[in-house]
Amino acid sequence: MTDVARRGDRSPVPTDWTYAPAPESTDIVRLQERYGLYVGGEWLETKEHFATISPRDESPLAEVAQASEGDVQGAVAAAREAFGTWSTLPGSERAKYLFRIARILAERSREFAVLESLNGGKPIKESRDVDLPLAAAHFFYYAGWADKLEYAYPNRSPKPLGVAGQIIPWNFPLLMLAWKIAPALAAGNTVVLKPAETTPLTALLFCDVVRQAELPPGVVNIVTGDGSTGAALVESDVDKIAFTGSTEVGKAIQRRLAGTGKKLTLELGGKAANIVFDDCALDQAVEGIVNGIYFNQGHVCCAGSRLFVQESIYEPVVEKLKKRMTTLRVGDPLDKNTDIGAINSRMQLEKIEELVAAGKEEGAEIYQPPCHLPEKGYWFAPTVFTNVAQSYRIAQEEIFGPVLSVLTFRTPDEAVEKANNTPYGLSAGVWTEKGSRILWMAERLRAGVVWANTFNRFDPTSPFGGYKESGFGREGGLHGMEPYLDFE
Ligand code: NDP
Repeated sequence: MTDVARRGDRSPVPTDWTYAPAPESTDIVRLQERYGLYVGGEWLETKEHFATISPRDESPLAEVAQASEGDVQGAVAAAREAFGTWSTLPGSERAKYLFRIARILAERSREFAVLESLNGGKPIKESRDVDLPLAAAHFFYYAGWADKLEYAYPNRSPKPLGVAGQIIPWNFPLLMLAWKIAPALAAGNTVVLKPAETTPLTALLFCDVVRQAELPPGVVNIVTGDGSTGAALVESDVDKIAFTGSTEVGKAIQRRLAGTGKKLTLELGGKAANIVFDDCALDQAVEGIVNGIYFNQGHVCCAGSRLFVQESIYEPVVEKLKKRMTTLRVGDPLDKNTDIGAINSRMQLEKIEELVAAGKEEGAEIYQPPCHLPEKGYWFAPTVFTNVAQSYRIAQEEIFGPVLSVLTFRTPDEAVEKANNTPYGLSAGVWTEKGSRILWMAERLRAGVVWANTFNRFDPTSPFGGYKESGFGREGGLHGMEPYLDFE
């Protein structure tokens, strides 16, 4: 039982919430023992396979195909063959398929959400309430454009490019698939997509949606594998590469494609500044800070991983933040009460541990709320660093984990200067009650997205992408379809 505290004549409030376990059943997911490659509307066997596991307990979930260079070439050939028919269908016909996909994703959303959390480690309430609705919304949104390309880009005669090679990461597996596939198909292209090595299962389940929607064979092809499969896709006979992932791999792809005439969009890392002014709604800002960095275990390219607090409110912000952190529940991703799930892989956990150790060594002060981490699986407690200098690695490098670095500023100019002091430029947040200040800051922050009095908000109609080492090209909105089109 929870103790109840009486606060004057106001309603009693619990002082110590205890939560009974509320696990989501996994019965809805039917996994195959082994998956092949989805090419030309059929499942193809490969010579090699690898195991995909659940990061919550390291249990194996299925065997997944490792696509070779030849397999990738076969998938691109299937997409090329399908392009002739798909690109010449009336836009309204293509739209029908995309609407169907959106509807099927919505109908099967619980199944997809459970599988996403099982394979990737993110809390079920996030897969259920964010990843799935947004993935369906992307297909729904781009379906609406499929028959209006001439109006979307007037007097520019938009034409599809051909075959798009798409490489996605492990932090939002199905959502990144939707961001890539929906605009490409709406514009009349066919695709070969490679999901990340650690999270291939929702992309493989998506093949069943493609089948259910009766998409012509070869319009969507899914090839699984490790980085070498991604590299083979970059080398293959595609007309465009769309990549989301690390800056390092993005740069290598850019070097490889230079001079080939293939189109390229890169959505890479980030080190977003979340900037809190002393006139903001403090409690709301603290919620935004927490959402900004601990959402999806911090495995978010636009995570608000650098918190800039105006000096005059530094103490109350840090105090409220630490207090709020003690209420975050870390644990089983499939429990509906979980706020912070499992770290996606052992490799990522080691990277987070390395950077946190560097932060301590460089002199920052660490705080982690008391929490019980499960014994099996990959876990990291929500962490905040204070006393951070701008030169520290934890203030410069993308940690991609639940780790926040707090810095301070005095004036808006100083906030802008410090916020822009990073090689990245993907997103930023501003917390203030002054509309004029929001606009002033947004004009000066070198970030593709600037959120005001909110954070990590996404909408299919709104373009998303970066500056500097965060990449180029946009996803979402009309801007997100443009890289899949040629203009006269
Ligand atoms: P990667 O950039 O290696 O992975 C992204 C995708 O690219 C995966 O599908 C990966 O395959 C594939 N890939 C890997 N090497 C190549 C290659 N040479 N050519 C083509 N494709 C390739 O990211 P990691 O998963 O290794 O994560 C490392 C760091 O990158 C993270 O710690 C984080 O800081 C950052 N990151 C940023 C993301 C973002 O959204 N901006 C997303 C993910 C990571 P495979 O999975 O098989 O390796």
